[in-house]
Order: sequence, then structure tokens, then C-alpha cells
Amino acid sequence: VKVVGSDIDVARAAKLQSIEKVAEKVGISESQLLRFGPHKAKVRFEFIDEVQSRPDGHLVLVTAISPTPAGEGKTTTTVGLGDGLNRIGEKAIICLREPSLGPCFGMKGGAAGGGYAQVVPMEDLNLHFTGDFHAITSAHNLLSALIDNHIYWGNELDIDTRRVTWRRVLDMNDRALREVVTSLGGAANGFPALAGFDITVASEVMAILCLAKDRKDLEKRLGDMIVAYRRDRSPVYCRDLKADGAMTVLLKDALMPNLVQTLENNPAFVHGGPFANIAHGCNSVMATRTALKLADYVVTEAGFGADLGAEKFFDIKCRKAGLTPSAAVIVATVRALKMNGGVKKEDLGTENVAALEKGCVNLGRHLENVRKFGVPTVVAINHFSKDTPAEIEALKRYVAAQGSEAIVCKHWQDGSEGTQELAQKVVELCAAGSAAFKPLYPEGLGLFEKIETIAREIYRAEGVVADQKIRDQLKQWEQAGYGHLPVCMAKTQYSFTTDPNKRGAPTGFSLPLREVRLSAGAGFVVGICGEIMTMPGLPRVPAAETIRLNEKGDIEGLF
Ligand code: ADP
Ligand code: MG
Repeated sequence: VKVVGSDIDVARAAKLQSIEKVAEKVGISESQLLRFGPHKAKVRFEFIDEVQSRPDGHLVLVTAISPTPAGEGKTTTTVGLGDGLNRIGEKAIICLREPSLGPCFGMKGGAAGGGYAQVVPMEDLNLHFTGDFHAITSAHNLLSALIDNHIYWGNELDIDTRRVTWRRVLDMNDRALREVVTSLGGAANGFPALAGFDITVASEVMAILCLAKDRKDLEKRLGDMIVAYRRDRSPVYCRDLKADGAMTVLLKDALMPNLVQTLENNPAFVHGGPFANIAHGCNSVMATRTALKLADYVVTEAGFGADLGAEKFFDIKCRKAGLTPSAAVIVATVRALKMNGGVKKEDLGTENVAALEKGCVNLGRHLENVRKFGVPTVVAINHFSKDTPAEIEALKRYVAAQGSEAIVCKHWQDGSEGTQELAQKVVELCAAGSAAFKPLYPEGLGLFEKIETIAREIYRAEGVVADQKIRDQLKQWEQAGYGHLPVCMAKTQYSFTTDPNKRGAPTGFSLPLREVRLSAGAGFVVGICGEIMTMPGLPRVPAAETIRLNEKGDIEGLF
């Protein structure tokens, strides 16, 4: 068994090329780059405008089975497949989300892939990168300050101060800030009010940055955001506070896609990082669309399992941006399927074909679901060193019986050498041209009916349970002209149900819809089922405790 170092050790040993050289491979000249040191750059709008008339390459989605603590490796496989495609002579670009500082110092570690399938410079990516999150945080909080300031100076817009829905954001896991009281300390500080912070990736500004087609669209969507209500319940928009212009100014550079490279020096756009629960959880439309103009294959990842990530990728991102994916790769691991089959985490190292076969129903349902969007599928078995031949054979047999194919991928251990077969298969699927992408539901369907469709068709619930109040709210939004919006589901990623402990492919349950929110700027209605965390906390032992600079000035402990 080959020994693979820690993600940061492997990343640091990489031979990076200059970003100009990486850009050149996909036809971006030096003058079209806004450089951030030798290995990071943004791509200028002039160039993006210029390439718009070109035909699109193939869009390939990487999604996964329901995640377990055993890990699936969507990002790792996205990078591995991109490198694999380049290795077999195709021109491919990878599109990923930017990591958030919160999880990085908390539990999850970085989000730049793993082993020999990573994007680099890994430390920069996981830390401040090109400052996009700073820009989003600043734009968001500028609006917060403008709202309070407007009220302070007489509240001409007649905002009901009890109904300010716009919160503040910070890119940190800090549960102490979930609910706070602002403006304490006397008349000069304004009117005391209940307020709170979300993590930056949960901001509607982040969702907008990721869905905006260009600067104009960005400004319009920012203006459309609802920030508060009046006593008569009429909405107050960001535009009413005249905040949209200044926010756009703060975001003008952040909207440009960031170019970096993989360990194998292939180009990757890492841009945007919306939460996959309160938002759609995909790389920015700007980056994906630009990549499609520059490469024959664009490999991109959606957050969480296919019930959440892929559904939102198709129904929100692709629908709204007019993207037509050619193929989908569903990442599965023997470990996670065994967990779905009832094996405990500590027993995952032992061969257990029966449990694997039992857990395969989870994969089977995701496969069926993705096909409902008219997109052909292939299963990538992200190989872990303890997987046994018998387990892999059983998994391949199961997938073949479902009319698809499972391919063993060893990119984590071997880089692109380990994904050549997957890359070939993806090329075949795209060349066959059998994709006939269609969203799950039409725009014209009622908002509640859209939620019902997702619940029935994707989660396989018998129905949706919701108070009259929620249904009335959805009706009101339809009357106010928001009925055409897609819905953005917020639900636990661990199960098709709202109970994270129900693994596999549960049936005979209903979906409780607890709350709905309107993201009028981003352009979706959020349907919240169960708890939703918009400001995570740190674990008992945060990763931050072991992160430090050593004597040479290198970062240690980042993973
Ligand atoms: P996701 O995108 O699905 O959240 P990642 O690709 O970020 O998952 O992987 C999560 C972690 O699992 C990373 O630290 C990565 O190094 C590790 N990992 C992924 N694939 C493998 C593998 N085949 N063997 C060992 N570790 C892996
Ligand atoms: Mg990931």
C-alpha cells in the first residue's frame, strides 16, 4: 500500500507552474489576468465578455450518495476527474467553491480536495485567498449599517424595527453571535434591537454573487433583496435604502472568477461558496459559464448528497443560468455504503459485503433521481485503501443491475493515473449525446406544489406536512409575483428524510416543512425542513488548536 502524506504535505511538495502558464493552456493571456502573487489570478470581465460568442463545452456534475462521517470525497473526485480528463488528452477545467474559514478552523478542515487530487496553493485557498469572502462580508454588513442608520435618522421608510430580517455576517464559526442585542449604551447609539450574525457563506449576497450573470445582474439582484417589513407588512428592499450601488462597488472584483491549478498543473476556477442548506451550494455561474467557453469539459461539484446538491444544481443553477449538463458522476465509497447498511464507524475497516449490499439502496435511489433530470450517470467508487476486492465487485454488480456502471477511482492515491477509466467513460457519455436535461418541475407550478414534487420525487416522502400559515405565506408570495421562483430546500444531508439517523432509502415518511423564507434577490424560496444552522459553532476540540506557524514560517496543522 502506497503511503500518502497529509493533504498539506502533498500540496506543499507540488511543483506549481506560474498562473500565466496555467491560464495560457486555456487561452487566457497574461493581460486578461488580475494577479494575486505567482499562483492565483482573477480573470477580467473584458475577456469574459469577449468569449461569450463561443460554443459551450460539456458540463459534468460531480455529486454523491448521502454523506456519512466515513466521507465520500466529492471535491477530491472532482479534481481527480478533471486531471484524468486532461491526462487522456482532453481539455478540461475544474470548477469548485471557495472554502470558508469557519469549517477550516472547526472540524472539517480545508476544502481543496485531498491526497494527490488537490487544488493549490492549498494554504491560500483555505485561508484568505483573493479576498472574495472579505468583500461579501463587507457588502453585507454595509447594508446592515445602512438599515440601522436609516432608522437612527428618522426612519423615513417607516421600517417596522421589530421586522428587520437582514442580519449581519462574519466568516467564523461563532455561536455566541447567533442572537445579539445591538445599539446598547444610550440614545447616541440608536435603538436597542434584537439582531444576529450568520456565517458569510450563508449570506444572500453570497448566493447572489454565485448566481449573477454579470455586474448589471449582480446590482439588480442586490437591489431586489428584502431587508425588512413595514407595519402593514409591505417589504422594504435593499434598493429603498440605496445600498445596491455601493454594495456592487465592494463586490466588483469578487465577481471575477479565481483561477488556480491542480497538483498536476491543470486549470481550476475556485469561485463562490454558498452554503448548501440555505442556498444552492454551487460554484458561481460566472466561473462555470466562463469555463464552458474555454474548455471541452467542465467538471463541477455540488454540495451534500444528490438529493440536495444535485437537485439544486439542476433546478436552480442550471435552470436559471441556462446550463445543460451532459453527464453526472455519483461518488460512492465502500465505507459510506457499509455505514448506510448499518455498520458502525469503528468497524468500517473490516470486510462486510452483506452490509455493503444492504447500503447500496441509498446509491440506487440517488441514481434514479439524477436520471429524472435527463442526465446520464456513472458511479465513481472513490477507493479507500481498506476496500476489499469482494466489496468492490459487489458494488459494481449492484450498479450494473441498475443500468449504470461503477468505476474504481484511485486519484487520492495516484492522481490522474487513477481516474483515466472514469475520464474515458465521461467522454463516452458526453459524446453519446444522450443527455436531455430538464428540471424536475416547471416554473409555473405553485410554490407549495414545487416543494411537494421534490419531496415525492426525490426524497420519496408520502407528502409534505405544513401549517396553514406556511401555505398562506407561499400563496402571498405567489400573488406578489414570486410564484415563478424555484425552491431551495434546506434539510439534513444525512438522510432522505428529516431524521439524520434514517440511512439507506427510507419509505413511509412525510416531510415536515417548518418554515419558508424568500430570497428575493438570489431568486429562490427557501423551504426549511428541520433545524437549519446559519451560524455554526466550533467543536469541543477545534482544528484551530493545532494550527500554527513553525520555525521556517510554514503553516502546520491545516488539513
Ligand atoms: P467532500 O467534498 O465530499 O466533502 P472531500 O473531497 O473534501 O469531500 O474529502 C474529504 C476528506 O476525505 C479530505 O480530507 C480527503 O483528503 C479525504 N479523502 C477523500 N478521498 C479519500 C480516499 N480515497 N482515501 C483517503 N482519504 C480520502
Ligand atoms: Mg467538497
